[in-house]
Amino acid sequence: MNIHEYQAKELLREFGVPVPEGAVAMTPAEAEEAARDLPKGGVVVKAQIHAGGRGKGGGVKLAQSASETKQIASEILGMNLKTHQTGPEGKRVRKVYVEAASEIEHEYYLAVLLDRAEEKLAIIASTEGGMDIEEVAAKTPEKIITVTVPTPDTLPDYVVRRVGYGLGFDTDQVKKLGGVLAGLYRLFVECDASLAEINPLVMTPLGDLLALDAKLNFDDNALYRHPAVSAMRDPDEEDPRERAANEIDLAYVGLDGDIGCMVNGAGLAMATLDMIQYCGGSPANFLDAGGGADKEKVKEAFKLILNDENVRAILVNIFGGIVRCDLIAEGVVAAAQEMGVEVPLVVRLQGTNAIAGRKILTESGLDITSAETLEEAGEKAVAAARGGKA
Ligand code: GDP
Ligand code: MG
Repeated sequence: MNIHEYQAKELLREFGVPVPEGAVAMTPAEAEEAARDLPKGGVVVKAQIHAGGRGKGGGVKLAQSASETKQIASEILGMNLKTHQTGPEGKRVRKVYVEAASEIEHEYYLAVLLDRAEEKLAIIASTEGGMDIEEVAAKTPEKIITVTVPTPDTLPDYVVRRVGYGLGFDTDQVKKLGGVLAGLYRLFVECDASLAEINPLVMTPLGDLLALDAKLNFDDNALYRHPAVSAMRDPDEEDPRERAANEIDLAYVGLDGDIGCMVNGAGLAMATLDMIQYCGGSPANFLDAGGGADKEKVKEAFKLILNDENVRAILVNIFGGIVRCDLIAEGVVAAAQEMGVEVPLVVRLQGTNAIAGRKILTESGLDITSAETLEEAGEKAVAAARGGKA
């Protein structure tokens, strides 16, 4: 799960990481009010969306007074902000963060993340902060410092020193970095984050370190342990398809293709997506109906696929191991009867009660193309989505 910058800064503050003073606002009047409450000096007005690159897209602006803050907030609120992370459709801005502007001597990048190859937590840092770190990594990989942490329970001093000296800091600055990293690291571990990133971490002309932007991602599977973090979920920022899936506790990931997939088992679901790509098509979603799915859940899952307006064909690929094919078939038919199916349906059923499942589908009167092998299913689904005969 992702959260907004203003929420990430609340957490950083709680964990002792220095952040500028600020408040969130939903209206220009609230933004003006928030600016009045800040100490004298400039103000930054920042669009709150779950995407980076807001600065370049016009979502981060400086104001000199409370009334200018109001004016800028009225421009940013409601705008459709496009950045390299939002996709071409952009994201509607519903909140702004009004923050005391900071003076910047230099912008750094600092993050804690899981290094999957090393199977350890790692600190990533760079002197090239403020910009797209993926681009820095691609063009000037020597400017990325990576230091892995030997065991997750403690952050040894030498790790901090390696990062700090790597950034060109002096002893005093390394000490300050130690404070920032200790907080960021503790937040990552204690809140079960999957990414804790500060970009930019700025050095002020007075030599203080401040987190000017923050991005936190959390492991969904651990959210039940963190009700306060969980409460930071913003449904407006989520893919509506994933939001609906989340409500019925379904393993679903929205993708940008046009073949809706109903599969059981994460491995088979991944293989199905691969097969669709291999056959020249593009899947609209990942969906694992799960081993313990009942008819009602299958029906809800299938409705979710039918509701996706990008879907031009549906591929049902079920291997009945624990789940029974007849039960899947019943769920599919129930959803189809309730909502109607206007796109071609390709079905592959194998395993437990496959024959009974096929019978239910055939007798339902639905227009179904059946497939025996995974490759055949992929080919037929791709042909169907293209409008050819399935
Ligand atoms: P992003 O574009 O979504 O990553 O948003 P950021 O919060 O990182 O802001 C983008 C850029 O705006 C930063 O890299 C800074 O250069 C600039 N910026 C943000 N806050 C301040 C501030 O308080 N003072 C100044 N001078 N610049 C700021
Ligand atoms: Mg940033």
